[in-house]
Amino acid sequence: MTAAWLPEAFANAVLEWFAHFGRKNLPWQLEPTPYRVWVSEVMLQQTQVAVVIPYFERFMGRFPSVSALAKAEPDEVLQLWAGLGYYARARNLHRAARVVIDQHGGMLPQELELLMALPGIGRSTAGAILSLAGGQAHAILDGNVKRVLARCFAIAGWPGASRVQKRLWVLADDLLAAANRVGSTQMQPGRLSAAGAYNQGMMDLGATVCTRTAPDCDPCPLSRHCLALGTDSVRRYPESKPRRPLPRRATRWLLVQDSDGRILLEQRPPTGLWGGLWTLPEVALQESSADWCAQHLGQAANRVEKLANRRHSFSHFQLDIHPERLAIAALADRVGEDDARLWMALESASKMAIPAPVKALLLELLAADL
Ligand code: SF4
Repeated sequence: MTAAWLPEAFANAVLEWFAHFGRKNLPWQLEPTPYRVWVSEVMLQQTQVAVVIPYFERFMGRFPSVSALAKAEPDEVLQLWAGLGYYARARNLHRAARVVIDQHGGMLPQELELLMALPGIGRSTAGAILSLAGGQAHAILDGNVKRVLARCFAIAGWPGASRVQKRLWVLADDLLAAANRVGSTQMQPGRLSAAGAYNQGMMDLGATVCTRTAPDCDPCPLSRHCLALGTDSVRRYPESKPRRPLPRRATRWLLVQDSDGRILLEQRPPTGLWGGLWTLPEVALQESSADWCAQHLGQAANRVEKLANRRHSFSHFQLDIHPERLAIAALADRVGEDDARLWMALESASKMAIPAPVKALLLELLAADL
């Protein structure tokens, strides 16, 4: 039978494990300013550390400070984000940087509520910034921490449900307070406070030991009291989101090329799906792509080739993409061009701020043309 945890014992186990096995040399940990921690936390949402590192380095190389980010054009921010997905994160980061310059004198606020009032900063991200960069005692509750707590304390229900989320926050706050009590008399690694070391330890445990698909319970510092392990029900926690089939949408994407092989790109409106990114012209399935060319470019398509269909999954729907490659006879310098539509050489187009499925299509075309 598994004995119940005392919060202090739990916190101590995490702090000790972190001192020996936690990650201490990630790029944002080496110089943990509020700005760097903020950018890293936003990039790490739904994305693994190994994927984030090169994006973080490039982003910091170009935007080393809040003011550099605030001064940038939205297009350039999106370009550095292209491939990371969830582009609302980049747009919010950029908007928040401008608010920090306009309303907070260029410094990220040091109060939880003020941080949470910035676009794209929720309670967990604010807690991470304040604890990892400022040493303050605020809890975090990202996906990794939710999973560890749900298993250790056998918390039923999907962690995204508000009732479950409330319970997890109460637990996270209690444990953080305990970590602050037991850890503040100990030396913590790096320049971290007890709260920072505990929070980083919880994130690292979830990311490296109590992983989603292959939890490694033997060396886990929490195994002695883990309720899920003690009742042989690790796979039960955390519970998945109740499944509803995702709605499907379909669209036709047009890869229009001029006689020089240049491709036509269109920029999306700043908000909404793939807001601000460059994509391909699209038409409804029942509409004719040749008509689109005549209407928007004043040119007839002299070749239309259907390419293999593909599907792209968003969190809330699936998009069936029916791509078509069209050739127009003219050299299309400026034909149909305006602020939101331009012709580009294929290789340059593939390096623009474009969503992953557009990039995949352009790279296929490039490979086919070699
Ligand atoms: S004992 Fe296993 S299930 Fe429990 S927290 Fe550790 S790794 Fe996760």
